Amino acid sequence: MPTPIWQPCENYTAGRDGTSIDRIVIHYIVGTLAAADVTFADPNSGVSAHYGIGEGSFHQYVSEINTAWHAGNWSMNQRSIGIEHSADPDRRPTLNTYDISIELCTRICREYGIDPQTQIIPHSSVAATACPGTVNLQHIRDEVERSL
Ligand SMILES: [Zn+2]
Repeated sequence: MPTPIWQPCENYTAGRDGTSIDRIVIHYIVGTLAAADVTFADPNSGVSAHYGIGEGSFHQYVSEINTAWHAGNWSMNQRSIGIEHSADPDRRPTLNTYDISIELCTRICREYGIDPQTQIIPHSSVAATACPGTVNLQHIRDEVERSL
């Protein structure tokens, strides 16, 4: 499992108000990981995620014990871990991005007892958005299930 590199980000709420983690929300950046780094480092953006993956790198912005601002839904933010993937509407994630995501999701599913087929969910199931766009969510679910 690669170790994430911490990036500056103040866009989060300390703790989870006692809420247990039982979802992983999958996102795409609509840009590169460097673009996510810039957005999440900007206190005026008002958005964040726990992790970002792309261009061979694996970044962490918010501790899992804290609530990141990624789902556009407060109760979902409190119960979930958000993962961003480098991709665009006309650029799918690379195999390396999938590999890191699958390893990360496998570890999270083990740690919190999350079912990959029903509890790894697309951002679009929570809010009106095209996110996660070109990310093949079912591929992630199936590979995590095989790895558990
Ligand atoms: Zn999203």
